[in-house]
Amino acid sequence: MTAYDTNNIFAKILRGELPSYKVYEDEHVFAFLDIMPRVPGHTLVIPKAAARNILDIRPDDFAHVARGAHKIAAAAMKAFEADGITVQQFNEPAGGQVVFHLHMHVMPRRDGVAMLPPASRKEDTNVLEQHAAKLMAALKAG
Ligand code: 5GP
Repeated sequence: MTAYDTNNIFAKILRGELPSYKVYEDEHVFAFLDIMPRVPGHTLVIPKAAARNILDIRPDDFAHVARGAHKIAAAAMKAFEADGITVQQFNEPAGGQVVFHLHMHVMPRRDGVAMLPPASRKEDTNVLEQHAAKLMAALKAG
């Protein structure tokens, strides 16, 4: 498998070299909005540890990401008055992975509303700001 590239987009976001719409952060994980959301509130949860995908991540780091996704899922249900949640996680190009720092997609879903195809359109910055604020408020409310 290809080695971890320290210059991938999400590594740059983690280092603060690129901006992001942060939703949550703790010692082990960082969560931020996907800038080309497939549904409103589409959030990415990433480990702070360097890992390309499920094939090289330490099990404990993967568990931290799962805990983060669990937390975001509960907040997204409230913040977006969702009927369900889709969680996706892709590995290597053959598995659908495009950005090579492990991430879980957490997507709040509404009955009868289809997801957009991946990377269909870049969301407006003010919409992303509002959605990040809604998610952070729901996280704070517990
Ligand atoms: P993958 O197919 O690797 O699981 O998905 C990568 C995701 O990263 C896609 O959903 C895409 O919209 C998102 N993405 C790509 N570039 C950026 C970026 O610069 N910032 C953010 N926040 N998301 C990005």
